[in-house]
Amino acid sequence: MIQNNYFLDNSDLMLHFEEVIPWTEIITQYEGDFEDYKKFQETNDEKFSHAPSDMDSALEYYKEILTSTGSIAGKSIAQNASEMDKIGVKYENGKVIFPEIMNKIYKSYHESGLLNFMLKKESGGLGLPVTVYNMIFEIVSRADISFVMTLAANTIAETIEKYGTLELKEKWIPKFLSSEYTGSMALTEPDYGSDLINLKTKAVKQPDGTYLLTGTKRFITHGCGMSNFPAILLTLARTGEPGSGARGISFFVVDGKNVHISGIERKMGIKSSPTCEVVYENSPAEIIGEEGLGLTKYALGLMNGARLAVGTLGVGLATAAYEEAKRYSGIREQFGKPIKEIPAVQKMLDRMEREIVAMRCLNMEAAHSMDKYIWATERMKEKGISEKEIRKDETIKYWERISSLFTPIAKYYCTEMSNSIAYDAVQVHGGVGYTEEFDVARIYRDARILTIYEGTTQMQIVAAIGGIVAGMAPNAYLKKYIDSLMKSFSPSKISQKILALLEKAISLYKNLETKEKEYYAFEVVEIATKLLCGLLLEKSVEKLKDEEQKAKRRKIAFVYAKDSFSISQKNYMNLQLVNKEEVDFD
Ligand SMILES: Cc1cc2nc3c(=O)[nH]c(=O)nc-3n(C[C@H](O)[C@H](O)[C@H](O)COP(=O)(O)OP(=O)(O)OC[C@H]3O[C@@H](n4cnc5c(N)ncnc54)[C@H](O)[C@@H]3O)c2cc1C
Repeated sequence: MIQNNYFLDNSDLMLHFEEVIPWTEIITQYEGDFEDYKKFQETNDEKFSHAPSDMDSALEYYKEILTSTGSIAGKSIAQNASEMDKIGVKYENGKVIFPEIMNKIYKSYHESGLLNFMLKKESGGLGLPVTVYNMIFEIVSRADISFVMTLAANTIAETIEKYGTLELKEKWIPKFLSSEYTGSMALTEPDYGSDLINLKTKAVKQPDGTYLLTGTKRFITHGCGMSNFPAILLTLARTGEPGSGARGISFFVVDGKNVHISGIERKMGIKSSPTCEVVYENSPAEIIGEEGLGLTKYALGLMNGARLAVGTLGVGLATAAYEEAKRYSGIREQFGKPIKEIPAVQKMLDRMEREIVAMRCLNMEAAHSMDKYIWATERMKEKGISEKEIRKDETIKYWERISSLFTPIAKYYCTEMSNSIAYDAVQVHGGVGYTEEFDVARIYRDARILTIYEGTTQMQIVAAIGGIVAGMAPNAYLKKYIDSLMKSFSPSKISQKILALLEKAISLYKNLETKEKEYYAFEVVEIATKLLCGLLLEKSVEKLKDEEQKAKRRKIAFVYAKDSFSISQKNYMNLQLVNKEEVDFD
């Protein structure tokens, strides 16, 4: 793998950091009036010692964290990714054994102080807005999407921080901070994956208010914890009667010392990430929040963040695939010249670059949309405003809806595209791409999981279609979002045409029967996704100061929009055909 700082060497990511991301807005929402800095001045409490005092120091603080992450990712994790993959995790006598090099890197990551990036400063974490910790995921996943799962597992601490009682927080959060425990999210069961509403693991309430859980969870990443450190398993279980649906499901914290790991999966990729079968037999558990809101409120919140993160893993992995392909195309010679000078190879590289740039725009906007409502909600809560009142706030409502739509769209698009980019990276390598001698073979195997876990692509389409159809009604939120985006710069004619196709496609889609709607939902979601990516990409062109860079990006945006137009036309045609409309093939 290329050895470099994976933040500083990535010119497109740097462009977002330096020019595109509206930091003033985000910092104002997240840091408020820089209260954490003031707390440090007043109390000298170590937890707030790194709190920024103003806009510039906040930005400097984020940059420092991203630069240190970029260094660990590119110089340590990436350089050992192939070795970790080769050794993989093993299951022996009821215990999961990790590659020794992985234990070492995890330990040094913890010692660097960068591990708890998802917790607030008051909890002892780094205290970062979503946009920044989303960039951390991108940088580390470019190095290795197996290793990045150790970071993802720890993000469950955020759910305890957000919804747990004070007692629960005081008991478990210090254990994350010390790395005495790691995290895990236990939702899936052998018979219930996409269909979580019907899961069976049973929770029985005890006289002291705790619960005992019995059942089996399958495919649980880091269910075994990490090396000698057990997991804290956030577990979905049924408190209602069998058949009580989503309202009968609650969310629990379970100490990994009280479950049995009955095995791990032998997988196609992400071989150093353990995927465990976890058996609960009257395992003691503490409830998070209220009974019956496990799936609909707490797990959904966790899943939204996790879905954004998996989309981000797609951007990171695609970047690794592209960079490896670009490097190889410069050193491999055929017909007396480097293969990058052969137009057919150049075409593959150009498409990879174009798609990554578009994916990153979409993904950054998805992260930004979370920052737009989460912290405003928290500030209102701090002021004692009730949840009911907060839910009436029009700005919060608007951004929460945009975010709920951008999350499945970004998850679907960035993970599907990462697979297609990994495919081309192998192709650029020719025969050696099919061997384990080069990293692209591992990257290609690893990519395959991204469209499956945290909800398959098909489930993301189910999650997105309603929001697109309802959101594009006159005066509805998506229509408003697109209108305001298009007013903030000069959109191309092609993008305007894609918007017209989306509107026409939605009206044809509305005529369909239920089953046909499920069949053709993808057509509509794809047009909307291409439109959003294209518009965000075009807008980013205007942020560039350097004329040469601007001209290059404008060309990328044009080719992207042109491709999107033909895809949108094809999708629209499918909807015309199912509506029995006449299609003009001339
Ligand atoms: C390596 C790995 C790690 C994982 N980590 C975790 C973890 O940490 N925690 C956890 O809880 N789970 C985890 N999972 C489970 C993962 O989230 C599920 O595998 C995934 O949600 C799909 O569920 P399933 O495997 O049961 O597939 P199924 O639900 O059986 O789906 C099979 C096919 O049917 C389609 N399908 C099903 N229902 C619908 C529908 N209504 N509409 C359209 N299409 C549909 C799916 O898209 C898919 O193509 C992991 C899985 C793997 C492989």
